[in-house]
Amino acid sequence: MENADAIVLRTVDFSETSLILTLFTRQFGKIEALAKGGRRLKSPFESALDILTQIRVSFLHKKGDVLDLLTEAKLIRRFRVVESNLAGLFASYYVVELVDSLTETHDYNPKIYDLTVKMLARLEQGTLLMRSLIRFEGLLLKAVGQQPSLRNCAECGKIITPEQKRIAFGYIDGGVLCFRCAEILRQRGHGQFLTSISANALHGIKQLTDPHDITENWKHLKLERNVQNEIRGLHNHYFSHLLGRRPRLYDWLSFIAQNDKEEM
Ligand SMILES: [Zn+2]
Repeated sequence: MENADAIVLRTVDFSETSLILTLFTRQFGKIEALAKGGRRLKSPFESALDILTQIRVSFLHKKGDVLDLLTEAKLIRRFRVVESNLAGLFASYYVVELVDSLTETHDYNPKIYDLTVKMLARLEQGTLLMRSLIRFEGLLLKAVGQQPSLRNCAECGKIITPEQKRIAFGYIDGGVLCFRCAEILRQRGHGQFLTSISANALHGIKQLTDPHDITENWKHLKLERNVQNEIRGLHNHYFSHLLGRRPRLYDWLSFIAQNDKEEM
C-alpha cells in the first residue's frame, strides 16, 4: 500500500459505480487508478474525487499495464474557482490538461506537483490569469525538460542579440534561431516550422518564465496587451506542436485573455 498527496487531473466514469482517475502525486508522479465505488455517494473517498481537488490517497500499485487501485482518499483542499470567475476556471482546466498531457505515468517529479498546486491557488484569485498561465507553461516546460532555448540559437548556440527587431523561432528546434540558421532551415524547405517574435515578446517571455524570480516580479511587469497576445500566440503553436494536436482547452484561451483582469 502506498500513500501520496495528489491533484485530480481527470476523472472518467468506468461503470455505474466506479471511476478511473488520473492523479498527479507528489511522491510517485502521475498515476492512473481505479476507484471502485467512487461514484457512490457513500464511499471510502468522501466525495473527494473531483477534478481540481488536492487529496491524500492510499493506493495499491499494480505492475504492468494494469490500473492502480485506489483504496482511500481524503480531501486536502478544493480549488474553489467559482462561476463568477469562469475564465479562472477554464485556466485551471487548462493547467491540469497540460500536466496530464506532458507527463508520463510513474515519472517522479515533485516540482510539477508543487508548481501545479501553487498555480491552481493563484488562478482562484481571478486576476493576472494570462500571465500566470504563460509563467506556468514556461516552468512546466522546464520541469519536463522541454523548455525552449530563449537566449542562444537552438541550432548553433550563438547568443541572440536583442538588437534584432524580430527573432526567428523554430518549433522543431525548440527555440530562437540566429539569422543564418533560420535562413538555412528556410532554404531546406522547413519554413512552415518557423515563426518570428518581436524582441519585446522575447524579453517578456524570459521575464515571465524566469525560474529564479522569487520576489514575483512577473506579477508587476509592464506588459502591453499586444506583447502578451504575441507570447500567447507563440505558446499556442509551441504547445500544439509538442502535443501533436491542439490542447482541448485551446479555444478557451482567447476567452481567458478577454476576461482577464490585470489588476492585482
Ligand atoms: Zn544559429
